[in-house]
Amino acid sequence: MPAIHIRGAALADGRSPTLERDVSLVVRGDRVAYLGPRDGEPDAAGAEVIDAAGATLVPALVDCHAHFTGSGGANWIARFGDPPEELLARGPRAGRALVRMGVLTAREVGAPHRLNLRIRDELSGREGLPTILAAGTWIARRDRFPPFTVFVDSAAELRAAAIAELDAGADLVKLAVDTGRLGETVTFSADELRPTVEAVHARGKRVTAHAQGKGAKVAVDAGVDSVEHGFGVDDVIARSMRGRTALVTTLNVLDSFIGFGDTVGGAFAEAQAKTAELLEQAYGAVRAAKKAGVRIATGSDFGGGSVRPGHLAWEVEHLVKAGLEPHEALAAATFEGGEVLGLKDAGTLRQGGAADLFLVHGDPLSDPAALWRVWLVFQRGRLVE
Ligand SMILES: [Zn+2]
Repeated sequence: MPAIHIRGAALADGRSPTLERDVSLVVRGDRVAYLGPRDGEPDAAGAEVIDAAGATLVPALVDCHAHFTGSGGANWIARFGDPPEELLARGPRAGRALVRMGVLTAREVGAPHRLNLRIRDELSGREGLPTILAAGTWIARRDRFPPFTVFVDSAAELRAAAIAELDAGADLVKLAVDTGRLGETVTFSADELRPTVEAVHARGKRVTAHAQGKGAKVAVDAGVDSVEHGFGVDDVIARSMRGRTALVTTLNVLDSFIGFGDTVGGAFAEAQAKTAELLEQAYGAVRAAKKAGVRIATGSDFGGGSVRPGHLAWEVEHLVKAGLEPHEALAAATFEGGEVLGLKDAGTLRQGGAADLFLVHGDPLSDPAALWRVWLVFQRGRLVE
């Protein structure tokens, strides 16, 4: 395979607030052989040269909150009840949608019957499909979550259920620690959660907690590695998260519900003002996390939170609205996500690293919507057709 010289692009890697201009990137095999100023690039003889002037190079995105078996849309919960073969068929379709939009890595945080483990095994490593880490099935207090989860009644059962997910091949464990639209009901105490967190850590794996509201505090007290949604994170909780628990935001889900007020009406329309209030609260949680120095990663919650696959750019736009600088929002959707997955290379773009990247039209550091304008995607050094 000849080398590919991408020449004259700008670079936005989430680590600097400003674009680097007139950059060349040389792909050899599946690696980045050169990344730097165009006037220092190696000889391009025999290479395929791509004139990328006007485009921006971006590291491949990491979606930290994905549900490949979900359909998204206003009936997202009901659609998890579709026949297993339908749920499985959604996997590759969603995977292709992600890769087309530059999302090459995803963290699957819950599927009925652990079907996400099968989807992970089927998709990972294949051309045009993302690399997936998967949590198996959600674990929840009995009758406090939709019925396709694993229900437990005690701390001992919780621990056994978590270990069963790992034994079945899960890469991480997902617990639901609060319930209700505002997460107003906490379903496990920190003392109940702690033995499970310790047992999972002893296996070298990570625990993440679904916590929309009050559950964030108990989850953080119990030492979970990340909090999903985290709309209830305030300054006090954020300070205790610093250095140990990441926040995985899913702001676009709330905007999705607000939109259903127009496209569906009914209960969504009635709740529109309340949902807008909740979105403001969720923005506040992001600001609290930023102020306290908490690692912020991000997820679309596609499939499971009504959003459709491949729309992670929407979440980046919301992080900027919440108060992150555009490069910080891009960091959340790239290498900070990689850190949450324990995949150091995911979401990074560096000389000698993996050639997982994409080019967008425009400048995502002044206009995050540029991330929607995907021009070319390279996965392991190959142009995704
Ligand atoms: Zn979810």
